[in-house]
Amino acid sequence: MLKSYYEILNVAPSATKIEIKNQYRKLVRIYHPDINPTAEAERLFKEINKAADILLDDEKRKNYDKFRSKNKVGYSRNSSNYTFSDLFKTKKEKLQQPVSKDGEDIIVSIDIDFSEAFLGTYRVVNIARSMICPKCGGHKFVNGNKCSYCDGLGEKILKRKITVKIPPSVKDKTKLRIKGEGQFGVNGGKNGNLYVVVNIEKNDELKIKDGIVYYTAQISPYCAILGGNITVPTLWGQAVIKIPPLTKANQSFKLIDVGVLNEKTNKKGDEIVKILIQIPSKITDEEIELYKKLNEINKKNSNAKYG
Ligand SMILES: [Zn+2]
Repeated sequence: MLKSYYEILNVAPSATKIEIKNQYRKLVRIYHPDINPTAEAERLFKEINKAADILLDDEKRKNYDKFRSKNKVGYSRNSSNYTFSDLFKTKKEKLQQPVSKDGEDIIVSIDIDFSEAFLGTYRVVNIARSMICPKCGGHKFVNGNKCSYCDGLGEKILKRKITVKIPPSVKDKTKLRIKGEGQFGVNGGKNGNLYVVVNIEKNDELKIKDGIVYYTAQISPYCAILGGNITVPTLWGQAVIKIPPLTKANQSFKLIDVGVLNEKTNKKGDEIVKILIQIPSKITDEEIELYKKLNEINKKNSNAKYG
């Protein structure tokens, strides 16, 4: 025997529209999939919505009543049939304890550069969290009509900007956890977490070992012999080094207070700059003449010294 829409909503065929609405809302709060995520509840939820759609519309209800009296729908109750009110009772325990669900985690990734990774930095991340619609309470319907606020989705998307602090000396692919900033939990369930995955952009210039920064600077032979100023990168920006005359290849210079910050002592470490002398790949005739002259002077000086 088919159940009538009145039986589905557990109301008398003579029920007023307000009574039907109230009963409908009561049942939605029980069988909504977010509250009661079982297959049976889902099936009932669909039935309830269909019944409410008909019975809360005057025209549809009138037509339905006509059809019902002709076809005797729901007039006789078969004891072997599972009526709605029976189901209501067997589900009672569940009804008293709505199922709580923890919110899912949100994972975002950010890119930072090499110095930021060592110095620590901040990033603002944009996240979108869905929350149960405050108007319909996630029921998708208000007074039997599709909720206009959430367009019948039962949820709203909340956008949020979160400032994430990236600690100094962070490693590549570190997952930072921001507790409770994931998706919202349902029915007392915990919020998910926000995870920020930190990607560090590669930097081949600066290397760090045991808290000391290393850099290799290439200088011209003229600079090596005559001396001069060169600019080198550090974690904190550019620094100028004074290269003294007659600097040799592989000679190192120490830059103080431009290295990795020691959080305990609040002091910065050193940067070691190693010098490489770059021989030019092209040379002009004029330069060749000058080098020949230099070579002769050099020979003459050596002979004078040793001969
Ligand atoms: Zn809504």
